[in-house]
Amino acid sequence: MSVKIQAVKGMNDILPGDSDTWQFFEETIREWAASYGYRNIRTPIVEDTSLFVRSIGEVTDIVEKEMYSFEDALNGDKLTLRPEGTASCLRAVIQHNLLHAGPQRLWYMGQMYRHERPQKGRYRQFHQVGIEALGFAGPDIDAELLVMTASLWKRLGLRNIELQLNSLGTSEERARHRDALIRYLEQHQAALDEDGKRRLYTNPLRVLDTKNPALQDICNAAPKLADYLDDASRAHFEGVQALLSACDIEFSINPRLVRGLDYYNLTVFEWVTTELGSQGTVCGGGRYDPLIEQLGGKPTPACGFGMGIERLLLLIQEQGVATPDAAPDVYLVSQGQGIGGYVFQTAEALRASGLKVQQHCGEASFKSQMKKADASGARFAVLIGENEVGAGEVTVKPLLGQGEQQRVKIQQAAALILQ
Ligand code: ATP
Ligand code: MG
Repeated sequence: MSVKIQAVKGMNDILPGDSDTWQFFEETIREWAASYGYRNIRTPIVEDTSLFVRSIGEVTDIVEKEMYSFEDALNGDKLTLRPEGTASCLRAVIQHNLLHAGPQRLWYMGQMYRHERPQKGRYRQFHQVGIEALGFAGPDIDAELLVMTASLWKRLGLRNIELQLNSLGTSEERARHRDALIRYLEQHQAALDEDGKRRLYTNPLRVLDTKNPALQDICNAAPKLADYLDDASRAHFEGVQALLSACDIEFSINPRLVRGLDYYNLTVFEWVTTELGSQGTVCGGGRYDPLIEQLGGKPTPACGFGMGIERLLLLIQEQGVATPDAAPDVYLVSQGQGIGGYVFQTAEALRASGLKVQQHCGEASFKSQMKKADASGARFAVLIGENEVGAGEVTVKPLLGQGEQQRVKIQQAAALILQ
């Protein structure tokens, strides 16, 4: 016997027992995005490596150590499996000149790839839903994204996901803060860890994003970006907060929230739960006004977010959210010579009436077919034997609870089951 081949580490199969919840989630997303006027965009999973280096930034976890990059064996092109969706979405928008038609509200859903240490809520292939609103400058669209996300938690039946907000200001404001921060961190250089020392001059803001408990005091006392924001940035941030309050959406301001990617400005946010251990961020995003121009498009304000589907599904499981039943309505049991055509026609007629029908296939005794019907979770068995065929009828037998079996015409059967 040859050796069994396993899936690649950190990349999961989604099997039928779990895919029911995935489909419930995906359908909820489609309806939700459409209800806010967002349209779907689909881009390739592979892009030029330079797209991600240019957008995400050289000095980020993703570009430094998490990308699946390779050379195309046929022509030597440098390619990367997408680690997130914003860069690809913007590349497509710019390439096809979509902004020519005005602002765009877009969404997508799909696999992302990051070479991380696999653990609960962290995988090497994972899935994100992404939303991007392009061409809107005001705080109202930032608020729309947050109101929208809050509504999604409700639609999914999720609780205890908290919103944290921060403003990263403009690049000039950040530069002034950065100078002050470097001066402050230099005074504490000896106490920093390896990452901290390495980032002190390359990306000092990210030093504050550390999860190292030994550095928390130093980080807490560091100069705050909020003190370096000018009036316009402050007004934008206050505008977002006022709209959230008007919509009764609770939030807290987390001055340490800087996000892992370089391209953000002004509003940034994360939705966080304490119910998934250290993988508690289920959604993160913000405004990235400079990015479209940086990728070769006309300067256009933009904001968006990505959410991790696996983490949300873990939360659905953790919180015991009831998801729709995937069992068939009907299990079709049949026995008799030459009745196959009648059985197929009946199954199709029941399906045409809106029922989910699982038809028994293969030779089996009546008793064993009934066992399969019970195991299928169907609410009804529909039985067909030679007598039924002669009369143009079927027998409808309730499987859950009491109820008598009845012999009826095919069309009546559907009505009976749908009651
Ligand atoms: P983290 O700090 O947890 O590594 P991140 O800041 O790298 O998250 P983003 O780039 O903002 O994550 O991606 C948006 C969302 O995608 C995250 O909030 C998370 O829910 C999900 N996500 C990110 N990386 C992974 C992963 N390796 N496996 C599963 N989900 C992920
Ligand atoms: Mg990460």
